[in-house]
Amino acid sequence: MKSLWSDAEADSFIARYGATGIGRDLALRVYTARLLGGDPRLVLHGGGNSSVKTRMTDIFGDEIDVLCVKGSGWDMGDIEPAGLPAVRLDPLRRLRQLDRLSDEDMVNVQRANLLDSAAPNPSVETLLHAFIPHKFVDHTHAIAVLALCDQPNGEELCAEIYDGRIGLVPYVMPGFALAKKAAEILETRPDVEGLILMKHGLFTFGADAREAYERMVEMTTLAEDRLKRGRRNVFAAAALPPALASVAEVAPILRGLTALEHDSASGMTKAQIPRFRSSPEILNYVNGADLARYSQVGVVTPDHTIRTKNWPLILPAPRADALDAWRNGATHAVEHFKSRYHDYFRRHNIRANPPKNELDPVPRVVLVPGLGLFGLGASAKEADIAADIAENTIATITDAEAIGRYHCVAEADMFDVEYWSLEQAKLGKAAEPSLARKIVMVTGAGSGIGAATAMAFARAGADVALLDRDGEAAEKIARDTGRKALALACDVTDGAQLRAAFDRVCETFGGVDIVVSNAGAAWQGEIGTVDDSILRRSFELNFFAHQNVAQNAVRVMKAQGLGGCLLFNVSKQAVNPGRNFGPYGVPKAATLALMKQYALDHGGDGIRANAVNADRVRTGLMTDAMIAERAQARGITEEAYMAGNLLRREVLTSDVADAFVFVACAHKTTAAILTVDGGNIEAAVR
Ligand code: ZN
Repeated sequence: MKSLWSDAEADSFIARYGATGIGRDLALRVYTARLLGGDPRLVLHGGGNSSVKTRMTDIFGDEIDVLCVKGSGWDMGDIEPAGLPAVRLDPLRRLRQLDRLSDEDMVNVQRANLLDSAAPNPSVETLLHAFIPHKFVDHTHAIAVLALCDQPNGEELCAEIYDGRIGLVPYVMPGFALAKKAAEILETRPDVEGLILMKHGLFTFGADAREAYERMVEMTTLAEDRLKRGRRNVFAAAALPPALASVAEVAPILRGLTALEHDSASGMTKAQIPRFRSSPEILNYVNGADLARYSQVGVVTPDHTIRTKNWPLILPAPRADALDAWRNGATHAVEHFKSRYHDYFRRHNIRANPPKNELDPVPRVVLVPGLGLFGLGASAKEADIAADIAENTIATITDAEAIGRYHCVAEADMFDVEYWSLEQAKLGKAAEPSLARKIVMVTGAGSGIGAATAMAFARAGADVALLDRDGEAAEKIARDTGRKALALACDVTDGAQLRAAFDRVCETFGGVDIVVSNAGAAWQGEIGTVDDSILRRSFELNFFAHQNVAQNAVRVMKAQGLGGCLLFNVSKQAVNPGRNFGPYGVPKAATLALMKQYALDHGGDGIRANAVNADRVRTGLMTDAMIAERAQARGITEEAYMAGNLLRREVLTSDVADAFVFVACAHKTTAAILTVDGGNIEAAVR
């Protein structure tokens, strides 16, 4: 790899942060931390850490020595000075005199010596940074270095490549003991440019930011060069079925099988979102005949355990047109994974003091020969992290096996890190929002009620797919959600487009839990004379599209086996017809009956069906011109017209959106109509 250092860039960081009172050292620390964090071959998602020893002024105006070290929750790729909290250096260094230090005391001393009491917790590897005398210190989990030190003869390989330039630290769990061990080794070898922590990662250091950074680049390059020599071809491929099922078919089944909890009696589910990845490298790995050996050795660096668990789940290759057989095989594999996890926990919890609480036993990474891999998590974002780490793991193990044999820390060491309170703290323990882990599809999501509904579901923690005839409008709303939302251009009256859209949603999020069938349009005409073609066009959109959406949704929901929720946007016209609105109201009335039929026929599948009946909302259906015309006809203001209901309050798209979210959360409610019209007694259903 190449150094990306640029004097001009470095100067611009110094100038930019200098203007806000940040010193040169910290500005340069931010600059090279970002260079390291921006390269996934070095650092992934909050992994790695960097520090600088500098001087700052305390409240008394005294200059003191501080360590600015990466804070918990920050990512090196986009770190800011606030992500490198300053800790008084002398008390940290004095800790080395102690024989032992509990994790709680370590965290407490670090927090108690922060210059800013509101700063995030300093990294779990803070003491290692403090005990190293050099000014700038960088730590990464570089793939190439891991591929070498994750070998049975890793120490030998590293000694040969780095020839006295690097100190080798045998594996010790991160924390106080590792910091002391590293410092001892460094004292016997004060001239080295870095340290390799066996089966964990790499530290480099220097007198300035550039030196520490470029040493990291050079050490990683030396490892990369070594990996190019004496490679053998890996991996010999296993036989695959001649034709494979698609990701869209497989993902919903997988999602159902890997749910943390599913209680069909209460309707409560805690599923995961699967995110799919495939590439020639991934396929080479998952298609290997020896996959069950090399993929089950363990994590490439222990810190990954909390994101991926120690081992991925291997599923059978899915033969096309044999999904039932695949489901059986996959069910068996998931059960086996869970019992293996329980056994692993029991085996190691015996020596844990105090005893630990077992975490969920379901996988975070799934390998499917023929297709690729899935990362799993509570949201698309979390699942992407697991998938990124899985891709990195594949690169590391492939390299390791190409020159030798992959080998990692012992199972007991993985357990200690997985159940280390400081690692678990990285994941946060905040309560999940009400619709976390849910996948929601909204049709007609590019504007009006649909857009407001997609936004409301995203705010409630769901991952959302937005369908609209106008793909760009859907794209804009998707960006506004601030989540990994999917926007699709789709005419819901076109069966092929609709099926393709559901397939895309399954490929992207692994399935769907809640479908808001919202797209609609108003046609007018006196029913006794209206042209047949107008009525039929309205039926296509205002009835048959709802039926096609619901039918696709039921297909996916049944594959998942997690129940589901169908929500239809019906109009007041469905219960209280307006004069000359027959072409709109009649199919809407049919859609109301459709909702009840779904509730009846699919209640046994745990699928609920409900409708929201809104009236007089400013949307594409009720344009400003229509509002002006009607207000004028009644001789009242537009505001008075819009608030012409029992409560005298105008109904907003956000009110309708909130009603959809509310019904989605009502786990014991099906075949219901929720009215959102400010009060219209003629349209009251019960
Ligand atoms: Zn580390």
